[in-house]
Amino acid sequence: MDVNPKDVDIVVASHLHLDHAGCLEYFTNATVIVHDDEFSGAMKCYARNQQEGAYIWSDIDAWIKSDLTWQTIARDQDHLMLVSGVKVLNFGSGHAWGMIGLEIESEALGTLILASDAIYTQESMAPKLQTSRIIYDSIGWANSVEYIKRLAKEKNAEIWFGHGGHQFESFRKSTDGYYE
Ligand SMILES: [Zn+2]
Repeated sequence: MDVNPKDVDIVVASHLHLDHAGCLEYFTNATVIVHDDEFSGAMKCYARNQQEGAYIWSDIDAWIKSDLTWQTIARDQDHLMLVSGVKVLNFGSGHAWGMIGLEIESEALGTLILASDAIYTQESMAPKLQTSRIIYDSIGWANSVEYIKRLAKEKNAEIWFGHGGHQFESFRKSTDGYYE
């Protein structure tokens, strides 16, 4: 997109798994927003010198060495209004220690809920709940799916899934442009 990572002001990291948080170290002028429990968990595995599941020690090392600016969403914080029309949602523990997502009001697309890995694909939530292979808190996960489904119904929103390959095909890719 011809945007330098250094020109980005805000990065919302839904969680810190390898396939979502690699390369955060390039966003040195941004505030990186992450769930507080996710941040603590990742820093604990770093301190213990442990490779833990989907968290990569050398990724965390790169973030620390790049002196990133972090802002965390507390466990009991309902949401954070980032800018008009963009709200950070707190999904709590489930797929990971602490998951966050986004609710976006788009003029062209209506209301969107970016669920990230709280809901992998359409099949994860319907016709019945189906957890992903990586799960930290199964009860928390089921609650977060119900929360997202309820919110989507209430706001007549479209859910964008974390790993919805089929859905992804219909999205505008960075090579084609971006969403306003
Ligand atoms: Zn994940």
